Amino acid sequence: KVRVRFAPSPTGPLHLGGVRTALYDYLFAKNHGGEFILRIEDTDTARYVEGAEEYIMEALEWCGIIPDESPKHGGKFAPYRQSERRDIYEKHLAEILKTDYAYIAFDTPEELDAVRNEFEANGEVFAYNYLTRNRLKNSLTLSKEEVQRLIDEKVPYVVRFKMPVDRVLNLEDIIRGKSSVNTNTLDDKVLVKNDGMPTYHFANIVDDHEMEITHVIRGEEWLPSLGLHYLLYEAMGWERPQFAHLSLILKPEGKGKLSKRDGDKFGFPVFPLNFKDPETGNISKGYREAGYLPEAFINMVALLGWSPANDREILTLEEMVQEFDLNKVHKAGARFNKEKAEWFNSEYLRARTDEEVLGLLKNVDEINLANSSDAQLLKIISLMKERATFAKDIYNEGKFFFEAPTQYEEKAVKKAWNEAAAEVMNAFSLKLESADFETDDLKQLIHDFAESKGLGMGKVMMPLRLCLVGELKGPDVPDIMQILGKEETIARIKNAVN
Ligand code: GLU
Repeated sequence: KVRVRFAPSPTGPLHLGGVRTALYDYLFAKNHGGEFILRIEDTDTARYVEGAEEYIMEALEWCGIIPDESPKHGGKFAPYRQSERRDIYEKHLAEILKTDYAYIAFDTPEELDAVRNEFEANGEVFAYNYLTRNRLKNSLTLSKEEVQRLIDEKVPYVVRFKMPVDRVLNLEDIIRGKSSVNTNTLDDKVLVKNDGMPTYHFANIVDDHEMEITHVIRGEEWLPSLGLHYLLYEAMGWERPQFAHLSLILKPEGKGKLSKRDGDKFGFPVFPLNFKDPETGNISKGYREAGYLPEAFINMVALLGWSPANDREILTLEEMVQEFDLNKVHKAGARFNKEKAEWFNSEYLRARTDEEVLGLLKNVDEINLANSSDAQLLKIISLMKERATFAKDIYNEGKFFFEAPTQYEEKAVKKAWNEAAAEVMNAFSLKLESADFETDDLKQLIHDFAESKGLGMGKVMMPLRLCLVGELKGPDVPDIMQILGKEETIARIKNAVN
């Protein structure tokens, strides 16, 4: 059975790249009828950020990426928070220490700094590896008795991986294919820190094994760790999962990786939800609060690096599950595109029923719809939905439905207004007095009026639009009149004429 985990560290809000990893993890698992697991990798207490875990769970939920197993949902391999799994790591640590793949090191940070400085003075770079481990303070260089004595005296120590010498590792990645690495280029990574907490590498391997993970799909920043991970599985005598490393998401323009700060710089969110930094109080902007629909957001994210068959662009989460194929995930980085993100939202907004959009509109904080009835709002929505990117646009672009114009756009006035136009509007408002807005065909009415005055349609339509909207934009004038109603329409014309 396919089991895939998303394993974020709660070091801050989930960003676009993280959401994409979670989404691909989920799509791959579900495409194979498998399970999707959320595991919180919180062994690095120094980088822990208050609220980040809750944020990650809420963000995934908003996206509709619901884990089968997680700290919140539980599951047969609980707990799903690494900080609660220390006894499990301890058990496996004892195992690896029995092999030739791990050793204890007592070097203090000061001692390591001293060696590092020595190297740098000679223009070399220090690495704790096969070249240097023999002259450092560890269980490979100290006698058994000495090691035991230090342990008994509670001298702090770390456990390091003993990287084999001169071995070529043949690595396989589902997206990138085969590659190889010589172990001499790798160093002796710390597996367990001096506070007894495992590092990412050790905890990650232990948990992927314990939780029966079959596929590891994660960001390409972990590719350099793949050799070490292969050897950790070898050391433990465990079968390893298959790996797939996802390429970066790139800046909209220029070069390089999309960073957490790019949102402010380029004016779009890089996070799914707003996140308030617990230390600074600063708010990082999220897609949800910017007015994006979750289905538009994940559709946009899914296509950053994956091309579904037949160049299909609009897919629901279920359709993505059907279509998803790691072999069609790109090796090259995907460039983020703000216009495309907005396009997705307008497509999904259009697909919502008018009633649903009404619900969205009522949820927009900064607008007040108290003076309009639902029936009226539904009419406005059906007229404006097609041209809106966000639900709030329906209000902002359709403000004239809610408030009479208080000023008239200069250019529009120049184009559509003069004394003759004012007279025409005056006459038209008189004609409207006897009209019935519920039953009359208002377009026909305008047409007949124009004809009776010997005028072209434009000579009536344009000034009329100016009276009602305050500028020369918006949906069809008869539709606007219908929604405003007779009284308001006449009032606006009179207001403009005077
Ligand atoms: N905790 C790691 C991260 O936050 C997980 C990497 C992995 O999936 O192996 O990126």
